[in-house]
Amino acid sequence: MTERLYYEDAYTLRFNADVVERTEYKKKPAVILDRTYFYPESGGQPPDNGQLNAARVIDVQTRETDRAVLHILEHPLDDARVEAQIDAYRRFDHMQHHSGQHILSQALSRAAKAETVSVHMSTDSMTIDVNRAAIAPEEWLAAEELANQIVQQNLSVHCWYPSVDELATLPIRKMPEVVGKVRIVDMGGFDVTACGGTHVAHTGEIGLIKVVKYERRGDTTRLEFRCGTRAMSDYRSKNDIINRLVSDLTVGYWEVPEAVKRLQADNKALRSELKLVKDQLADAEAQSLLAMAYTQGQWRVVSRAFEGRDTNEVRLLAQKIAARPDTIVLFGVAGEKSQIIFGRAQNVEIDVVPLLKQALPLIKSERGGGKPDFAQGGGVPASLDEINSALEAAQRQL
Ligand SMILES: [Zn+2]
Repeated sequence: MTERLYYEDAYTLRFNADVVERTEYKKKPAVILDRTYFYPESGGQPPDNGQLNAARVIDVQTRETDRAVLHILEHPLDDARVEAQIDAYRRFDHMQHHSGQHILSQALSRAAKAETVSVHMSTDSMTIDVNRAAIAPEEWLAAEELANQIVQQNLSVHCWYPSVDELATLPIRKMPEVVGKVRIVDMGGFDVTACGGTHVAHTGEIGLIKVVKYERRGDTTRLEFRCGTRAMSDYRSKNDIINRLVSDLTVGYWEVPEAVKRLQADNKALRSELKLVKDQLADAEAQSLLAMAYTQGQWRVVSRAFEGRDTNEVRLLAQKIAARPDTIVLFGVAGEKSQIIFGRAQNVEIDVVPLLKQALPLIKSERGGGKPDFAQGGGVPASLDEINSALEAAQRQL
């Protein structure tokens, strides 16, 4: 079994070791060392990455059969002895978040009476699920405040394996289901819990602990938080966004929410005004098209091919004209998604659907249909000439 040195010392990132076995893990080469500081994925903490001589360590896992630590490599490694290097930024980020999680879980228990039921940690997010469905913002803010006080007190973090008798006397927040000796982590007397992860030596190293999001999930609440360096880069990117908004909106940063509300209200008012104006414009256009209608028996026929016009606008125009008695509308819109739109007044006794079915093949489309008084189709590319010939064919049928 591999000697796991990270339990005693989370700060050694460079070490020498002997390769005792070469194997594979999910079709990737893997080696087992006699001793390692590499942290294998467990307890919600992602594994370390790093180097073994020239070989990149991309994953670290525990072998189920004998608990040996598998260093999973990008390329095979032939060396019998290795100089190992653990990625420092990734490891310290995990130490900050793992330690921060212990403190925040205890703070949530004390300040919000919310007990941690599960923890999830990845390289870009860290979450705690607590057993309360509704936590008021002031409650988790009080927990966040308390957690940061513990950071600022720079308390010593102590990890050890107590005897069974000593274990019974400890105020342990969460006992794991482990058989054998239990590793206890004490955050300067503030939080005592069982954990096999890597932690900082003093709470001050965690840096800021900031809850960035909370959401209700059934009977629980999920809190997302960031610590230390990740909290700093989160602050940096959000500050950058705020500064851009402040500059674009020319307001103080505290006025941004109000300014956005004003923009939304303006936008809504402009949209309804635009709708009204478009409607008036369509009325005027319908009027002028009617003036150019030709007479066919007792009907007035308005036939027109458009190019570069919005189909919805043209349909509205057709509806407005067909609302007048004695009218027949034959419209076409040329373009990438051409349309043919036929309509007629209620007192005109023709069916425009067969008219449309005869016109569509002239623009090489088969898609279209409607009701006897209004039909439309197309959707294929068609030129103005093709649209015109389709409209002329329909005129001849009247
Ligand atoms: Zn831990």
